Amino acid sequence: MKKIILPFQRVLIQKRLCVGCTSPLDKAKKLGKLSERRELVECKCRRRYVYNKELNEYQRASFQEEQQLLKELNKKPVL
Ligand SMILES: [Zn+2]
Repeated sequence: MKKIILPFQRVLIQKRLCVGCTSPLDKAKKLGKLSERRELVECKCRRRYVYNKELNEYQRASFQEEQQLLKELNKKPVL
């Protein structure tokens, strides 16, 4: 028997809502730019998303993207 898992998370993101607490991502805190078109934002529940200006949509931030940006924001040398 196949389980049908509805992609709730994807639906929520398409509606520009946080998958964890359903807060509007447009009100999420902007942490900084990943590139010209991509911005890292953090919801009040501390989940992080990448806002793509070109597509005008949000995506879950990958671990690498978070680490890369946080490193740049902190400007700490990593040894
Ligand atoms: Zn949230």
